Amino acid sequence: MLKSHACGELRSSHIGQQVKLAGWVHRRRDHGGLIFIDIRDRSGVAQVVFNPATSQDAHKVADQFRNEWCVLLEGEVARRPVGTENKHLPTGEIEVIARRAEALNPSKVPPFYINEEQETDEFLRLKYRYLDIRRPAMRDNLVLRHRIVKHMRDYLDARDFVEVETPILTKSTPEGARDYLVPSRVQAGKFYALPQSPQQMKQLLMVAGMERYFQIARCFRDEDLRADRQPEFTQVDIEMSFVETEDILRLMEGMYTSLLETVTPDWKLQKPFPRHTYQEVMDRFGSDKPDLRFGMELRDVSDIMSQTTFQVFRSAIEAGGVVKGLAAPGCAGYTRKQVDELVELAKARGAKGMVTAAIAQEASLDGLTAEQVRSPSARYVTVEQWKALATRLGARPGDMMMFVGGPVRMANAVLGALRVEMGKRLKLADPNVMSFSFVVDFPLLEWNEEEKRWDAAHHPFTAPLDADVALLEGQPGKVRAKSYDLVCNGYELASGSIRIHRRELQQQVFRALSYTDEETQAKFGHLLEAFEYGAPPHGGVAAGIDRTVMLLARAETIRDVIAFPKTQTAWDPLFDAPSVASERQLRELHLKVIEDEKPPAAP
Ligand code: ASP
Repeated sequence: MLKSHACGELRSSHIGQQVKLAGWVHRRRDHGGLIFIDIRDRSGVAQVVFNPATSQDAHKVADQFRNEWCVLLEGEVARRPVGTENKHLPTGEIEVIARRAEALNPSKVPPFYINEEQETDEFLRLKYRYLDIRRPAMRDNLVLRHRIVKHMRDYLDARDFVEVETPILTKSTPEGARDYLVPSRVQAGKFYALPQSPQQMKQLLMVAGMERYFQIARCFRDEDLRADRQPEFTQVDIEMSFVETEDILRLMEGMYTSLLETVTPDWKLQKPFPRHTYQEVMDRFGSDKPDLRFGMELRDVSDIMSQTTFQVFRSAIEAGGVVKGLAAPGCAGYTRKQVDELVELAKARGAKGMVTAAIAQEASLDGLTAEQVRSPSARYVTVEQWKALATRLGARPGDMMMFVGGPVRMANAVLGALRVEMGKRLKLADPNVMSFSFVVDFPLLEWNEEEKRWDAAHHPFTAPLDADVALLEGQPGKVRAKSYDLVCNGYELASGSIRIHRRELQQQVFRALSYTDEETQAKFGHLLEAFEYGAPPHGGVAAGIDRTVMLLARAETIRDVIAFPKTQTAWDPLFDAPSVASERQLRELHLKVIEDEKPPAAP
């Protein structure tokens, strides 16, 4: 090794030792003839002092050094002079008195600061990712990611799981997104699909008797990218035979609990993880991935509103809908403008409008008077009714109530979004808490209004609840699934389900999804056939590694926990991928490019 120690490991116990350090010039300062170089490697930073009186040569060499040069430094570890220690640095008690220096490779001036946390254009960061990763924050994220994945691997290995690799060149396996296709050269006109997940493969491994499988699996989904999406992402993918829902939930709870307790013990972890049905979280939080670090729950107030003279709400209820509300603590003083913003948010989520009612700070609920409630709908609602509404929502003096009426799905979605927004504005969530929970029994199917047919809510291999199988024929929308999500602080971290393992039921579900028997055979014949060879009952789950690391690292986007991510336009600025293929490549692949009338703008 060119180096004897890692820069970041030096402590006062090394004083007197000769060390060889190699790394990058993090910072360089001249002080009255002395040169101070902070040298950085992956482990951290150490201060090296060049004194012309100690070594003229070394001082001369170090004088050339600039930031981000790759250098080799030798010298003796010494205690820093009293008063110059740096308590914020693990190596802050010592410095290295240099007697030799060598430039291993100079560096151009980097396009952004590496030795300072500074808002930097993300395009630049991605184009020079190898410099971006030199920044301690990015390095820490990648190291944490490694520890998390290693912990998961070890956890599963200790429980008799076997990691099996599955192919990347395969056939479409649907998770509800668009496939990435790879043209086949050898078989003209045919395409592989990159796996949206190893779903069918892991199920086939259960048929194959592997019993407990996992894989740190790359998944590819050609979706429009949002803040926390990437065209390729990583899951810890798990499948088990002879299990029921609770077995999988317990495995996940155990894995995440031990992960947090050993790898990121700074987080406050709420245990045990509660379980809620989909219906319950939609009713109470208006979201299937609720942030449970705060309350502010939604309540149905249809019974009270139907007694008022408020026509809009009364007709919503008569039309089979509901009126629901929530109470935002301490928001009675919200200005017209602030309220209008919330109304706009409600409308953007599909509400016709939103009604607010502020309860004056000095009011008492028992002695509430009409003047103490400020609401554009005051004339329709009596004081007694306001009281009943406030009691139902748990509103107190100084709070603002918000009400939305209409179809229950819409009301839930709108109030769920308002809850998230108010939670953010009021900083209701403790930023040091990881609040995990499981959501179970999602609907099996979702109505696709555009194509006028049912889609699988999770994926088509998910088993219906036994009690609901009979509804598949007549009332498919009512069928609940043996499916579950692991949710944390408002994010979906993992999804999974108990699978169908019998051919007839799988075919019945494909029929409910409007696949013809021929289509089913062409797309999934291999799976249906496998089910005829003694397929065991099985189920599994997949957790997003990127999102897990993002949350635990307190990173803002998943791009910050991925070494070489893509931009929102699925572009890699470092390699400039995707890129144009040569005529010859296209010919070999039997492909012709049809030019768009207007080529998409560069990202
Ligand atoms: N394959 C599913 C997904 O990627 C997870 C599962 O059902 O295990 O969401």
